Amino acid sequence: MSVRQKIEALRAELREHNHNYYVLDNPTISDYDFDMKLKELQELEAKHPEFYDATSPTLRVGGDITKNFNTIVHEHRMYSLDNSYSKEDLEDWEKRIQRILGDAEVEFTCELKYDGASISLTYEDGKLSKAVTRGDGFQGDEVTANIKTIRSVPLQLKGDYPPKFDIRGEIILPLDGFEKMNQERVAAGEDPYMNPRNTASGSLKLQDSAAVAQRPLDCLLYGIVGPNTGITSQYEMLEKSRDWGFKVPSIAQLCKTIDEVMAFVEYWDVHRHDLPYETDGVVIKVNSLQHQDELGYTSKSPRWAMAYKFKAEQVSTVLNEITYQVGRTGAITPVANLEPVLLAGTTVKRASLHNADQIEKLDIRERDTVFVEKGGEIIPKIIGVDIPKRPADSEPIKYITLCPECETELVRTEGDAKHYCTNFYGCPTQITGRIQHFISRKAMDIEGLGGETVELLFKEGLIRNYADLYILTKEQIMPLERMAEKSAENLVKGVADSTTIPFERVLFALGIRFVGETVAKKLAKAYKNIDALMAASSEELIAVDEIGERIAQSVVEFFQNERNLDNIARLKSYGVQFEISADKLLNQTEILKGKTFVVSGVFETISRNDLKKLIEDNGGKVGSSISSKTSFLVAGDKMGPSKRTKAEKLDIPIITEQDFLNMV
Ligand code: AMP
Ligand code: ZN
Repeated sequence: MSVRQKIEALRAELREHNHNYYVLDNPTISDYDFDMKLKELQELEAKHPEFYDATSPTLRVGGDITKNFNTIVHEHRMYSLDNSYSKEDLEDWEKRIQRILGDAEVEFTCELKYDGASISLTYEDGKLSKAVTRGDGFQGDEVTANIKTIRSVPLQLKGDYPPKFDIRGEIILPLDGFEKMNQERVAAGEDPYMNPRNTASGSLKLQDSAAVAQRPLDCLLYGIVGPNTGITSQYEMLEKSRDWGFKVPSIAQLCKTIDEVMAFVEYWDVHRHDLPYETDGVVIKVNSLQHQDELGYTSKSPRWAMAYKFKAEQVSTVLNEITYQVGRTGAITPVANLEPVLLAGTTVKRASLHNADQIEKLDIRERDTVFVEKGGEIIPKIIGVDIPKRPADSEPIKYITLCPECETELVRTEGDAKHYCTNFYGCPTQITGRIQHFISRKAMDIEGLGGETVELLFKEGLIRNYADLYILTKEQIMPLERMAEKSAENLVKGVADSTTIPFERVLFALGIRFVGETVAKKLAKAYKNIDALMAASSEELIAVDEIGERIAQSVVEFFQNERNLDNIARLKSYGVQFEISADKLLNQTEILKGKTFVVSGVFETISRNDLKKLIEDNGGKVGSSISSKTSFLVAGDKMGPSKRTKAEKLDIPIITEQDFLNMV
């Protein structure tokens, strides 16, 4: 086989695996084998740049930087959709259609309305040539480099596709990926993203496509435009698109009557909550493309399509007071304290207002009656004010200028959404916040010590930083409120025990901004001990896989601060781990490489955390929920029945604790 043939064979094979994994959700090789093949291809391509192909699977990792996105005029306009909210609306629509089409028999396809950012993809000779955002419908931004990193977008089509066409779809961020991104952000001391839709649409406009490649984005397609596609109906279009390699949910349904459409709507209004992504309604389209042609467009939207919007649950209540929270990084978050109200099954008392701009935008005032909504989003939000109910003497909110905890003047730097208290080492909430982070389960996991006790110890002047925890004595603690001999002993013991916590978690516990769990692990692995890490320059740090400029800068700054150095020196003297243990180096293997485990239930001989650690130390991955990508479900006692059913349905081996231990 010539090198060229080898390269092409690898590309074809990897394309197929990408399709199996990301489009069909049904991988046929392990992640490890996939990575090995990808690496082989990367090496061959590097040696033979003459065989460059813009659709190679190696380009999925991104790396192209777009400074300014080109404006592209859509060859076919991207329309909005008309909205309907009731069966009557739909019946009126049907009448309008029949008036134009006469007594032709009309069928409808129902699809879900995916809640993300619209995209138009152009394919020429089966290759993705252009990806453009909707923009104003007439013209949008070209974001091809970013879209290419989304694994479910085919770069090369299969089958008998038309020579040139545009296909439209929605870029979405599935909920579990969104949650994971947010967990990592919060652990790194950053604000969580507000919702998947905005995060997906923001991702499209990132300048660094490698950063886009890191985000678990997905692309769901729903429509082809262009002449000579040989397609005669919407339903056929969906099926054909699927055959050519696009990700098209199979939920779509053909309906003959508005009653059938309503049944689809009512079913999905309830069951949408079981989907892995957010939807905000149903899109109903006249099925025949010939009918669509006859119906045409109004100035804004097709006459042949209609969105049916799911109702977001909404209530109104009184906003009693706005208070302000200080985070451990000093970020200020305004909080709406509400008259308690029942919404989507839970009592809501508070809602985040995010920042000063949000308050201004909504013109929210204390004692206003506000509308609170819980859409797909987890946290309830205030979406507006019932202005007629506003008290006559109400006044606009004056955003605080001083920290509510330490009265330091707040600053808001350009580019920051929030105000910050810069009194990092004096602001009580920031100090206790850092200590609370230090002792938390994923950090030093100090037993016998909780967040409230930290506040108490601080208030009593017994601790001013996390190093102080290690010199606490039983005698000092016992006299405190709610403390007794036993609990004081436990606390001291818990602190002492934490000296066995491994280096990577200590590194996470230090609370360096942007250094979450994953980054801490990366740094620990790369530098092995704190002295080497402290000596690293920003350039050296950036050379570490997945460490960007922002993280590097923050690490360097952290180690320039005298107080931090002093704390670290003290922690070291108390025996806290500041290097990877020889043990750990020895115990690490790669035997579970490429395998993903989901751990569920209670175990007999090993704690859940230790079990997870064992998986990672041996090169495996720990997954949070069962999918077709899961290799094994390790089942303990009292495991949730839904996990078992799901594993059985997907044919995922369920193994016991002992089975697992035998593996390692
Ligand atoms: P709107 O922005 O409310 O006018 O709705 C139109 C948008 O809905 C389009 O730009 C699409 O991006 C989006 N959309 C989501 N799912 C679908 C679907 N299944 N069919 C058509 N449009 C959809
Ligand atoms: Zn403060």
